[in-house]
Amino acid sequence: MEVTAVRGEIGAGRHFWQPVSPDRPGDPQALKEVEMTAAMQMPRVEECVVASCAYNHTGDCHAFAITIGSPDHAHCHTFVQLPVRAGVAELTAQVGACQRADCRHNEQLECHAPAIRVGPDNDLADCITYAER
Ligand code: SF4
Repeated sequence: MEVTAVRGEIGAGRHFWQPVSPDRPGDPQALKEVEMTAAMQMPRVEECVVASCAYNHTGDCHAFAITIGSPDHAHCHTFVQLPVRAGVAELTAQVGACQRADCRHNEQLECHAPAIRVGPDNDLADCITYAER
């Protein structure tokens, strides 16, 4: 059975991928896949100015997902300086997890900001969308 996906816009920079199966309309399993896909939407990294990171191509991040957080600041733990071009060129990174429970965008260690920006702050690569509660 062939299943493809279409991009659905939620607004405020958020989107989800909706599975579409032309040969199984009304299939409860297909509906479950749609719900799971929508639940997995994550904030995207709309800008990253850390050019020395292997995942940074042209002011944007191409990791599949990044992790933010340290005990004392909103560090990007995916930041890595290696002599390779990493990530997937066709993808824009999303925030997979965030340990900064004190950020007003954070709920249960997940980021709910519409999108984030990464750049120098306390460290070379930090979430600069962080906002203290
Ligand atoms: S905006 Fe806040 S919750 Fe979202 S990644 Fe940055 S520090 Fe974490």
